[in-house]
Amino acid sequence: MRDADLIPGDSNKASTSGGETFYPGPSRIHLAAFPPKERWDDWTELDSQAWPRRKERRYSLVPTTCFNCESACGLLAYIDKETNQVQKFEGNPENPGSRGRNCAKGPATLNQITDPDRILYPLKRAGKRGAGKWERVGWDEVLDTIAARIRKAIVEDRRDEIMYHVGRPGEDGFTERILAAWGVDGHNSHTNICSSGAREGYQLWMGLDRPSPDHANAKVIFLISAHLESGHYFNPHAQRVIDGKASGAKLIVFDTRLSNTATHADHFISPYPGSEAAILLSIANYLIQNSLYNREFVRRWWNWEEYLAQRSEFGDQRSDKQPRSGEMFIGTEPTNERDSNEIAEAINISRLRRSDSADFEEFEGILKEVYAEYTFEFAAKESGVEANALEEIAKVVATAGTRFSSHNWRSATSGISHGWSVARCLFMLNALLGAVATEGGVFPNAWNKFVPKPIHTPPHPKMWNEKTWPREFPLAMHEMSFLLPHFLKDGRGKLDTYFTRVYNPVWTNPDGFSWIEALTDENLVGCHVALTPVWNETSYFADYILPMGLGPERHDIHSYETHDAQWLGFRQPVMRAARQRNGEDVNDTREVNPGEVWEENEFWMELTWRIDRDGSLGIRQFVESRKNPGQRLGVDEYYGWIFENSVPGLPEKAAAENLTPLEFMRRYGSFEISRKVGAIYEEEVPAEELDDVAEDHFGRVFTRAAKPASPNVVPIPSPDGDADGRRLVGVKVDGEIKRGFPTPSGKLEFYSKTLADWGWHEYAIPTYIKSHVHPDNLEADQTILISTFRIPIQIHTRSANAKWLNEIAHTNPLWLHPKHAAKLGVRTGDLVRVETEIGYFVVKAWVTEGIKPGIVACSHHMGRWKVHENGQKQMMATVKLDHEGTQWGLERESGASPYESKDADTLRIWWNDVGVHQNLTFPVHPDPISGMHCWHQAVRVRKAESADSYGDIHVDTEKSREVYRKWLTMTRPADKYSPDQTRRPYWMLRPLKPAREFYKLPESTKPAPR
Ligand code: SF4
Repeated sequence: MRDADLIPGDSNKASTSGGETFYPGPSRIHLAAFPPKERWDDWTELDSQAWPRRKERRYSLVPTTCFNCESACGLLAYIDKETNQVQKFEGNPENPGSRGRNCAKGPATLNQITDPDRILYPLKRAGKRGAGKWERVGWDEVLDTIAARIRKAIVEDRRDEIMYHVGRPGEDGFTERILAAWGVDGHNSHTNICSSGAREGYQLWMGLDRPSPDHANAKVIFLISAHLESGHYFNPHAQRVIDGKASGAKLIVFDTRLSNTATHADHFISPYPGSEAAILLSIANYLIQNSLYNREFVRRWWNWEEYLAQRSEFGDQRSDKQPRSGEMFIGTEPTNERDSNEIAEAINISRLRRSDSADFEEFEGILKEVYAEYTFEFAAKESGVEANALEEIAKVVATAGTRFSSHNWRSATSGISHGWSVARCLFMLNALLGAVATEGGVFPNAWNKFVPKPIHTPPHPKMWNEKTWPREFPLAMHEMSFLLPHFLKDGRGKLDTYFTRVYNPVWTNPDGFSWIEALTDENLVGCHVALTPVWNETSYFADYILPMGLGPERHDIHSYETHDAQWLGFRQPVMRAARQRNGEDVNDTREVNPGEVWEENEFWMELTWRIDRDGSLGIRQFVESRKNPGQRLGVDEYYGWIFENSVPGLPEKAAAENLTPLEFMRRYGSFEISRKVGAIYEEEVPAEELDDVAEDHFGRVFTRAAKPASPNVVPIPSPDGDADGRRLVGVKVDGEIKRGFPTPSGKLEFYSKTLADWGWHEYAIPTYIKSHVHPDNLEADQTILISTFRIPIQIHTRSANAKWLNEIAHTNPLWLHPKHAAKLGVRTGDLVRVETEIGYFVVKAWVTEGIKPGIVACSHHMGRWKVHENGQKQMMATVKLDHEGTQWGLERESGASPYESKDADTLRIWWNDVGVHQNLTFPVHPDPISGMHCWHQAVRVRKAESADSYGDIHVDTEKSREVYRKWLTMTRPADKYSPDQTRRPYWMLRPLKPAREFYKLPESTKPAPR
């Protein structure tokens, strides 16, 4: 390497050498890991398949991002200049999140674009819905038909009958804005079967709903769940966990299974599922009782004054009768002697007359008293882990100081009732240590994220959709999507036009047979449009199947909280970019995609245009070109405008290379806006934002100055202003007005007034709550099934069309401990029957010491099926579905086998087993606060019966209705508990927020005013 200069701002520590970028490989000295970006237009390398001949191949290297999981790691497409085909995908070293590295699924994108079974043309059903008969149809007919339906629904004010249901979006806000342009509150997501539990716990503390841990600089890394393989942002985070370990960080892992992550841990424990919060509070208690917490941070940044104020009125509302020490939450009403209205009212009063004697030492004394019961012995009893092992971990945590990074996404938070309390108790350790937005600590996600302002911003919809945001769940983090079939069956409305977008609820969600029942009833769902690159179990019950592009065939932008920085990634159709690089015009992505595969951006813009061709509905303007008024916006103008106007530093960087900002992003695929964002809460509010300020009793500062415009429109919670119309601008701490946190108090909320106000005062501070699978709530012959993990090679429904991945991982046996297996009399490979509340499934046993004795586990990404010939033949079993009334059965007819296709490898398929679809046998378990589906199942496991066959499934959907109704009784609905006659606290995040006036409950259902 000659004359090397470190390139500032390059997260891969690249340097320049001889005028070219050098991306160091593992040796860090000699070998380059990636081609220098200066040669991406014409890169030459030897053809590995021609070896030992030295045949050179020339490539154009075009960046995009992976679409398999939410991490959106950078990819580089190697486009062969001779064949004009993508030869392979490797990592993009310019992507600040993934830094050139990918998991196995990234390069396997190649399999997906060449998949012989993929859908290449729009299809319309030819027989009854679900009968498996399809005919090819043109895009024009599809667009005109769907646009006419939507226009009619809008004109007839049936806007709540239009719904868009998305899996992992992989983009930041494009489709929400399309729905807002239509004036429709029709966004529905998968989040309540995924991450709402964790989100609720984080939002309660810091206003923002995700952590952005700085693992690489941590002294102690604390992970709950198999984070390296199945947590969130697992490649970008996993590589930073390893960086942290390489620098000496200690890794603590909680997981009931011995996961890949656990094998890297310095301290690994396997707790009883659902006991995690008890352990976390015992660690918190250790820090508190021994004064090992960051006293100054707690004094400055916790809302302890607000807590003391309410406590002076009511004492410890958690105490005595609260469920943390025993009873299951089911069927509880507020148990304090005062009713919740009285409490909320009195708290409001107490806030206005805060006692002068309230001081921090008093709070510390109370903290010691309140958490004293969370001893290691108590946690040991709950978790089944020895007290001295827990104490050892607590001592390690205490050494971290402000370099304590932690993360908890699925796992416990998505497994158990009140799983949100696990994330809340985990973040309490950060809050005690002051490891918040510090080097090696945890940042609120929005501070490490950049969402650029788009060319058009439609207004908030003027409506509220009860099918997605029902009044029973006023504090839910996302839409109650997995209850949709039950809501439709309840008669809570119907759907005129329902889009599933790269989403497969029949297979992914619990209670899939109830989904089939709803989707096949045309009185409930008028028209189902499945937007999907591949066949899936839900698409079989569609009216239209529309082929959407894979990662290298579509545009999106995204920015994720992978570390303490803000960056933007650009997904693009690589063949379009390659042709444009050669000076060709491409105006429609269908020109370069296989068959008639389209991309969503162009599809939604064209559909929107056709809904309002003449502009009379006021919709068309939001997809209209600014350069050519009267014409539809195109993707080049859409992204060109964003990159020129909303991404600080990008135009200058592009100009330095003689490129437009769009050309720059097409060339490199990402841009780092800033790094080391730091502790925004400590920033002083500048004088120009302080106009006619007012301060309340808790130091919250309000201003009349308008909020400064920002090109970053990342969603941030919006706590209310004061009664005189000023907005909340910051919080006074030790005499200085600081930016604070986006919570109602402006501080980290140890005490959640929101929970207290909305009927959950017993959980107003971090608390352990026994879960629905606590031993107290199981019958003697029941155990727990964990279904919230996956292995790193596959991901839900998106990766089934990748042959390399399928060869490595294609089955999901039931993990059983040897002692448990001996008791049941089963060995590895034997069939076992797993009975849930609504049915059973038959699966093979895998006897392993990698699971806590008595608990069983089954990975959730296998068991794909098809009922007709259409489907991914490498990874889907052919099954027979039958039902009588509410009794449903699924029987496997055949597994995978070799078949002829344009890909010779399909004749080499050697596996037959593709796993078992366990989710069909799970009823819905909506958490009454977060709305999260609580995945852990109380099951009975026994040897299969002689008539049982592998993959057999039986379910009674009437039983699933009963379970749904039982869980609904646990809620505390807005129309009974709302403190202000609204449906939901306005400050809380909500994708696609309606206009504020639509938060009001309808007059007839309002609770009595307080
Ligand atoms: S699937 Fe793997 S490569 Fe693709 S975005 Fe996710 S972590 Fe990155």
